[in-house]
Amino acid sequence: ERLVSNEADSQESYIEQSLRPQNLGQYIGQDKVKENLKVFIEAAKMRRETLDHVLLYGPPGLGKTTLATIIANEMGVNIRTTSGPAIERPGDLAAVLTALEPGDVLFIDEIHRLHRSIEEVLYPAMEDFCLDIVIGKGSTARSVRLDLPPFTLIGATTRVGLLTAPLRDRFGVLSRLEYYNEKQLAHIIERTAEILEVGIEYDGAVEMARRSRGTPRIANRLLRRVRDFAQVMGVETITTELAVDALERLQVDKLGLDHIDHKLLLGIIEKFRGGPVGIDTISATIGEESHTIEDVYEPYLLQIGFLQRTPRGRIVTDLVYRHFQMEVPNID
Ligand code: ATP
Repeated sequence: ERLVSNEADSQESYIEQSLRPQNLGQYIGQDKVKENLKVFIEAAKMRRETLDHVLLYGPPGLGKTTLATIIANEMGVNIRTTSGPAIERPGDLAAVLTALEPGDVLFIDEIHRLHRSIEEVLYPAMEDFCLDIVIGKGSTARSVRLDLPPFTLIGATTRVGLLTAPLRDRFGVLSRLEYYNEKQLAHIIERTAEILEVGIEYDGAVEMARRSRGTPRIANRLLRRVRDFAQVMGVETITTELAVDALERLQVDKLGLDHIDHKLLLGIIEKFRGGPVGIDTISATIGEESHTIEDVYEPYLLQIGFLQRTPRGRIVTDLVYRHFQMEVPNID
């Protein structure tokens, strides 16, 4: 699996849990989101009410699940976790909702993947804390209203555009998580190193932060891999030199690009003179599925301005030539 992927791999979720900050004070970065949440949490507590429903959105690995857990901790309530794809029938959701205790947080990850029929169960639950269920069939069918305990729904999504308007409108708080800067990531790495009981020089943390693609999940993963090098070498502190050396061996370059990014970018330069070139042509040339390129490889390259999407296809920018120390072509 890719070292610089922002998705969690199969064994990672367990490790990640132990690294999760527990309160807002330990949650690094996302200052605007944190400041607002602090106020909303305090106000809800003063009124002895539940917190309004919260929608967290942004790319994978930026800390949505972590933040949901923190909100529950700060409110002093329990969190129940599920995900859009795990709720297959309206009855599944009804079971989850009726098991809630007053004040609980219900966290639904990948909420954009909820079926429409299930979403409709959620509307009255979110709005009036009740559940409309149909008993019986045909002419004898009747609808019964069940009261639910007041709760806070926290939805998380990487694709906010896929949420239906009626669902989105039922969230009182919408928070977008941003990519982290180098300093914040270095701070996260130092914090994780402390938990993992390994020493680290600040500049070593910065080297990892720079290659973490703005994403704490990647930062923590790079740290764990670099720590392996330190351990095998019998070293207790990750020096800057050791960090740089290990990252080079891991083949993650100074901007966090790996061999797949290199293949994609150099492919466009070498075979298509930098583009524009259509996604299907790129796909055929480098032997990767178009949707994988679009969903997994491209977003970071677009974000750092290495790729541009135009109506005629993808173009690599001058930044790419400079990154590879190649001459920027003169296009006249
Ligand atoms: P996904 O949507 O893929 O599940 P996510 O956005 O929910 O990702 P998390 O699982 O919350 O991401 O975070 C990934 C890892 O990064 C966790 O181990 C968490 O400890 C760490 N992390 C995320 N944000 C922060 C932060 N602000 N400060 C410290 N650590 C963080």
